[in-house]
Amino acid sequence: MAVVGPLARVARLGSSICRNHRLILNRSSQRRGIASCIDPAHGLTDEQKEFQKVAFDFAANEMAPHMAEWDQKEIFPVETMRKAAQLGFGGIYVQPDVGGSGLSRLDTSVIFEALSTGCVSTTAYISIHNMCAWMIDTFGNNEQREKFCPDLCSMEKFASYCLTEPGSGSDAASLLTSAQRKGDHYILNGSKAFISGGGDTDVYVVMCRTGSKGPKGISCVVVEKGTPGLSFGKKEQKVGWNSQPTRAVIFEDCAVPVTNRLGEEGQGFSIAMKGLNGGRINIASCSLGAAHACVQLARDHLLVRKQFGETLSNNQFLQFKLAEMATKLVASRLLVREAATALQENRSDAVSLCSMAKLFATDECFNICNQALQMHGGYGYLKDYAVQQFVRDIRVHQILEGTNEVMRMIISRNLLTES
Ligand SMILES: Cc1cc2nc3c(=O)[nH]c(=O)nc-3n(C[C@H](O)[C@H](O)[C@H](O)COP(=O)(O)OP(=O)(O)OC[C@H]3O[C@@H](n4cnc5c(N)ncnc54)[C@H](O)[C@@H]3O)c2cc1C
Repeated sequence: MAVVGPLARVARLGSSICRNHRLILNRSSQRRGIASCIDPAHGLTDEQKEFQKVAFDFAANEMAPHMAEWDQKEIFPVETMRKAAQLGFGGIYVQPDVGGSGLSRLDTSVIFEALSTGCVSTTAYISIHNMCAWMIDTFGNNEQREKFCPDLCSMEKFASYCLTEPGSGSDAASLLTSAQRKGDHYILNGSKAFISGGGDTDVYVVMCRTGSKGPKGISCVVVEKGTPGLSFGKKEQKVGWNSQPTRAVIFEDCAVPVTNRLGEEGQGFSIAMKGLNGGRINIASCSLGAAHACVQLARDHLLVRKQFGETLSNNQFLQFKLAEMATKLVASRLLVREAATALQENRSDAVSLCSMAKLFATDECFNICNQALQMHGGYGYLKDYAVQQFVRDIRVHQILEGTNEVMRMIISRNLLTES
């Protein structure tokens, strides 16, 4: 595949600046290399390895040194994200004619996995931003694409995805935010809950009801910050994901031009779900990055910590646990990459595979990180050690972009209804 757009620069940069990449994850880390059996570069093309090196390098140099501070001070690292966008990470799978990098879903997964080793929370927000930019690029007309995508790809502007409401979470198609047409505007009334980036972002991709009950009555409109009638709730206090704000987004007689609607009236739910297929791979990839980092942190800790007169790495129980963690990491990665390929190829199994990947990887990677914390003993519970932040940051991946129970619903529906 030809490398286009900003990532062409990335590929060139990669070969020059990333040869000596090492993860810097923990103050106690011995900064060892990556064991070959868990090496995330396996199976990738040379070009993908270059993107990956650049993303690992960015994670190690620009994110990992700050991830604890961003978490503790709840800093939304706008300038760091803009630097990431200069490498092409603001619109990874957006088309190049509007500033995107035009890369595949697999490339995207590889990049988000690597970035997450430096800060899961920041990477997860970047992934949501990418999903919104892709939705506008894919379902918007040329005028909309040209208006919104370049600023999103450069991360001059930031985007939020607005589906969930206080009364509709897992049952997203029951959403109530109304959009009544008045001339050449929709008048929006209602509120969205738990919106990532909410209040700090500029472009809101909003699913709202223009028609009757159910999914067919939903449309998708882009609401710009500053539109009269758009306001935000208080910043939520969260267990993790603290480098990105989460707020309610409120619409009170908020007039949005009809020209901001993506696709046709009634297509909004389908657009939202198509966005989420990729979103689920991206979030699963963020979990992979956390698990990859935690396996290495656990290994490093076992190799240096002594109890009962020898290093913990001599204990067979802990050796076996580490082996299980590594095995589950690699299994998760294989499934995520298979789902990314299925989505890229528009295969009939893509929706189920994206759900399987999200379910499996986010559950298994959480268990891996939690086990890594356990292996650190009391130190794992201290904020001086990165492992606890990985645990806190990826817990929510089992809940959002469709809970893992909803993933089971999607997979079983496919199994039981498709002949
Ligand atoms: C930090 C954070 C960021 C978020 N960011 C965004 C965002 O940017 N945009 C956005 O639109 N949303 C966002 N969300 C919302 C998220 O997608 C929802 O929280 C999620 O979809 C679940 O909805 P809910 O919280 O209303 O839970 P509920 O739907 O009330 O579910 C509660 C529990 O019941 C289970 N459950 C529900 N129905 C069933 C069923 N039929 N069978 C089995 N189990 C069931 C669920 O799986 C869950 O475990 C975010 C949430 C969080 C916490």
